[in-house]
Amino acid sequence: MTTTLIRNGRLVTASDDFVADLLIEGETIQLIGKDLPMRADRVFDATGLLVLPGGIDPHVHLHYPQGPNQIVSSDDWLTGTIAAAFGGTTTVIDFVEATPGESFLRAFEARLADAADAVIDFGFHMTFNRADDAARAEIPAVIAAGMPSFKIYMAYDNIRLTDCEMLAALQTLKTHGGLPIVHAEDHDVIMTLVAQHIAEGHTEPRWHPRTRPVAGEADATARALAYAEIVGVPMHIVHVSSARGMRAIQEARARGVRATGEVCTQHLLLTDALYEQSVAEAARYVMAPPLRSEADTRALWDGLRAGALDCVVTDHCPFTMAQRLGRRRTPEFRKLPGGIVTNPDEPAWSNDVPAFNRMPGGAPGIETRVPLMFHLGVNAGKLSLQQFVNVTSTAAAKLFGLYPRKGTLAPGADADIVLFDPTREVTISAPTLHQNCDYTPYEGMRVRGWVRTVLVRGQVIIEEGEFKGKRGTGKYLKRNGL
Ligand code: MN
Repeated sequence: MTTTLIRNGRLVTASDDFVADLLIEGETIQLIGKDLPMRADRVFDATGLLVLPGGIDPHVHLHYPQGPNQIVSSDDWLTGTIAAAFGGTTTVIDFVEATPGESFLRAFEARLADAADAVIDFGFHMTFNRADDAARAEIPAVIAAGMPSFKIYMAYDNIRLTDCEMLAALQTLKTHGGLPIVHAEDHDVIMTLVAQHIAEGHTEPRWHPRTRPVAGEADATARALAYAEIVGVPMHIVHVSSARGMRAIQEARARGVRATGEVCTQHLLLTDALYEQSVAEAARYVMAPPLRSEADTRALWDGLRAGALDCVVTDHCPFTMAQRLGRRRTPEFRKLPGGIVTNPDEPAWSNDVPAFNRMPGGAPGIETRVPLMFHLGVNAGKLSLQQFVNVTSTAAAKLFGLYPRKGTLAPGADADIVLFDPTREVTISAPTLHQNCDYTPYEGMRVRGWVRTVLVRGQVIIEEGEFKGKRGTGKYLKRNGL
């Protein structure tokens, strides 16, 4: 078995911070200690570097055909997982979404085949988008296939559950030990406000945040958690974007509900002032929930530091500007380590810039999450090093049934390891990122701290800024029951 020795690095986990050597044998960490024997097939000198457990991003949408127009998110499983690796993320959890009439397990098989090119490990949440008897009868098999967490949308036609259906779904998850993870926004509020704005000719993206108010998020979060309380199930709230949404989680916890929450990088770092720009600029920030006020971002940071929010995710769902502005369904290029490949032209299917409610929604971010959280969390004094590791890796592993195989540095754990240079300064810019998008919301931001080398189960896949991995080496992670 191949052995790899990482010498003299500063190992940081969610609970420790010490200088040591780390020995990898095959795919797992074998030993951690001072002055380990120098013999190994491969030796990395990590003097001056942080040695971190690989990042875990439990909320991404790779190669996702979104909405009625089926506009496909611009990172596929190859480009998206390469980008994740460059950014220090070695595990992602994406979603399975059955089409009408398709069984959950059939949809899972298709999604698994879709992910065949992944270069890092991955799991899936199952989307609970139907709550009929047949769908509910399938839940034990879905859990047994390694998907113990279930996405429930309270908004979006076609995939959402009504309150009545959500209650039935939660009862089923209670019976079988599944974890509901909930997109909490108020469907009726959104549908009504969108229709009114469009009717008034308010079609530009600046109107988007006005149709998804904080009060609707807060109300839906409180309602979902009340249902969890009634049924007696734990519940995770995805992409908490506002102080009031977060407060609903804290209040539920105070009543004894096992409630957890995640926050997206973009909701910590960007504000709704960005909507007050030209259509082309503001179109970049059409996402749900939308960006919120600066006061909300401050509250989310405070909540993250205090443990009111458990982990930082990206909800990575990129679209190129041509896709956002209605000119293409599929991305026009593909960034690969060998260069950019242009995708063949598809017939232009629209020449008009769509109204905000027809634009694909989401933001790119899979590659920038860890460095941004290091710079704006640790360097800015908002998070300790251990908290940084916890919110970018460990907490997600624990929440979603991957711990202690993933999310920590310990003998027996998978050797998913990031050598991170805390002194390297980088100006974030779309052309030098690997994620398949022609813009980044963080363009021009200068950060100190960048990923140098990345190992996935003992294999070096990023080294000194070069991709060294191989297509298809990522493994599907059958997750444990929660
Ligand atoms: Mn999402």
